[in-house]
Amino acid sequence: MPKASAGQRLPHAAHGRLVDTAARGRHRPSVARRILLVGAGGIGAPAAIALAHAGVGALTIVDDDEVELSNLHRQILFDDTDVGRPKLAAFTDALARRWPALEVTAIVGRALPDTALGLCAGASIVIDATDNFATRFLLADAAHLAGVPVVHAAAVRWHATVMGVTAVGRPCYRCLFEDPPIGPAIDCATAGVVGPVCGVAGALAADRALRILAGDTSATGAITTYDGLADRLRQLPIAARADCPLCGASPTIRGVLAERYMPPECDLG
Ligand SMILES: [Zn+2]
Repeated sequence: MPKASAGQRLPHAAHGRLVDTAARGRHRPSVARRILLVGAGGIGAPAAIALAHAGVGALTIVDDDEVELSNLHRQILFDDTDVGRPKLAAFTDALARRWPALEVTAIVGRALPDTALGLCAGASIVIDATDNFATRFLLADAAHLAGVPVVHAAAVRWHATVMGVTAVGRPCYRCLFEDPPIGPAIDCATAGVVGPVCGVAGALAADRALRILAGDTSATGAITTYDGLADRLRQLPIAARADCPLCGASPTIRGVLAERYMPPECDLG
């Protein structure tokens, strides 16, 4: 057996063989590229673990929250001693302990209209692990305008949804949901979320990101839903809309304008 420390060459090589199989041998994984992970919470943690195990070379992580005791059931990189610490500090410490070769860049803050384009432009792929519609739409727009693929992952109660969009940007998140919902939206702060459901969402997000980076588009053009109560995983196709304001024939969204996005209502990740 070749020598390799945990989280380095062996998982990478093993993952490469699997992805090559999934992509029918046409592409090799691009795990050395930089992945932008927005949200260091319940979805971001399992996604980061899966990506690190797969041998991803560099992660940029964006968050501005603190670790809370009530969130530990789903934020699986943290423990009791992290409560009260900035999430990013605890997150990067936990990753560094297990994957010292992983290059982690921590950006304390949020993806906002004046920063989102710059964040996306420097990434090979974006993982939206946030939990509010404003940021989700913002990242959908910014990734599309930057020509960067994006994976949207969400979890509320017993339900998880994950959607991957290639660099082509079509179909996109706005083909499915044209605008942010008006009025109060169901979020994890009011509705709660089951920890393992976040784990499913994070693992699926990492899977979609790695497959897109490897050139496997078979999981895009669809939204994957997981119902934890019914124990049901489904993939529903998404039709690219000709009149989509972002990716359609005559797009009206040509920039990131702050007034297009509602203030975040929940930032629990
Ligand atoms: Zn679209």
